[in-house]
Amino acid sequence: MKVRIAIFTLSQQRDSAVDKRLAEALNTLGHETLVRAYATAARWCACYEKPDVVIVPMVGSDHKLDFVRRCHDWGMIVVVRRGEAGAAREVLAAMDPERQKVIVGNYDYAPYVDLELAWGPEFSNVLAERRRMPRYKIVPCGPFTLDACFNRPKVHRTSDKKTLLLATGWSAADDDPNYSECGADPNSPLHRSLYRQHRQGRDAWLHMIRHLHLTKSHKYALLLKVRPGESPAEYIREVGQCVTVLPYRCPSADAILMSDCVIHTGSTMAVEAHLLGVPSINYCNANPDPKLAELTIQCGDVGELAQALSRMAWGRSNIHPEKLAWLAEHLYGRIDGQACQRAAQAVDKLIKTRFKGKAKPKPVIPDQWPRDVIYRAAGVSAEPVAGWWRLNCMSCHGVFHVDPKATVIFCPYCALTMRKVIQPYARMA
Ligand SMILES: [Zn+2]
Repeated sequence: MKVRIAIFTLSQQRDSAVDKRLAEALNTLGHETLVRAYATAARWCACYEKPDVVIVPMVGSDHKLDFVRRCHDWGMIVVVRRGEAGAAREVLAAMDPERQKVIVGNYDYAPYVDLELAWGPEFSNVLAERRRMPRYKIVPCGPFTLDACFNRPKVHRTSDKKTLLLATGWSAADDDPNYSECGADPNSPLHRSLYRQHRQGRDAWLHMIRHLHLTKSHKYALLLKVRPGESPAEYIREVGQCVTVLPYRCPSADAILMSDCVIHTGSTMAVEAHLLGVPSINYCNANPDPKLAELTIQCGDVGELAQALSRMAWGRSNIHPEKLAWLAEHLYGRIDGQACQRAAQAVDKLIKTRFKGKAKPKPVIPDQWPRDVIYRAAGVSAEPVAGWWRLNCMSCHGVFHVDPKATVIFCPYCALTMRKVIQPYARMA
């Protein structure tokens, strides 16, 4: 039976390549698939395009919980696909409870979700033990983002300089409340300490970039790629003369293929580089997961980095194989380029079970997303208030009113956070 499946992309940089691959695999199985941006198009798509199945990002906010609840109530099959791997059991247990909640998820979405597509089997068990989902509804598929590193033709470059890819990892330094897949409160102690750590990290990186440019620009060309959720603005402003800043949406595998060595902050980029045959260095680690941090050589200052580069064996991976094997067992699952394929098969199986022997039920989806006030905050009102401003939400187009003195406000209909949006108006007033 052919059904219409809508896949909602959370991060254009991290998820869109995965979602397109998943869509292709579902098309091959005979389904019609749509890929839409979660933040700006999910609600419109649900009501206008009326899919039978929705595949949504991890439920890490009130907005996403509301979305899966309504889709479920309207009779759609709801599937969650995790954008991040989670954490190995022993690594998770050693973290402070707030961070554990951020990684596992703190929303009770199980009643509305039919299937969760996770990365590795160990974290799938953890999700079930922590009562996020019943285990039979979770399918471990493997590391989705690593699929893009398989079957890639080697790029031959002719430059006599080596190209270093600087893959930053300091998104919290932007203090950007608009990006929080996990739902950490921007005013929480966790968020504040992350901000401090990322601010120091970015300063150290800016120093390293200037230093490399001043002392080694005859040897190395520098490319820079920001991590999902991080703004390139400060890098362009501070070191734009020293580096080529890649477009935000450039997929990481494409960026790695343009380089001879990846300098990262302790991220999965180390594994991607390994799969693409490129060495990497962890500079000023940002990753709280020690198992990921120690996959490749770690450097803490420009002297150590210069030494590591001078000893580099170019043209091949420098990952610790036994540490990667540990991560595959306890975090990623099978690293074979087939994660999206397994996800598509799990979705197809669910569809066949659901519609087996019966006609597809008639949809009971409204033609417009209900405009209910679901988020209440000080300084925001759906009704007009004397002296307040009238705003139009850029995401859901709902009209509401705000206290001009409020600095952080939420759209009462869709919870879009608008701090940066209203500041220019505040200065004008
Ligand atoms: Zn809104």
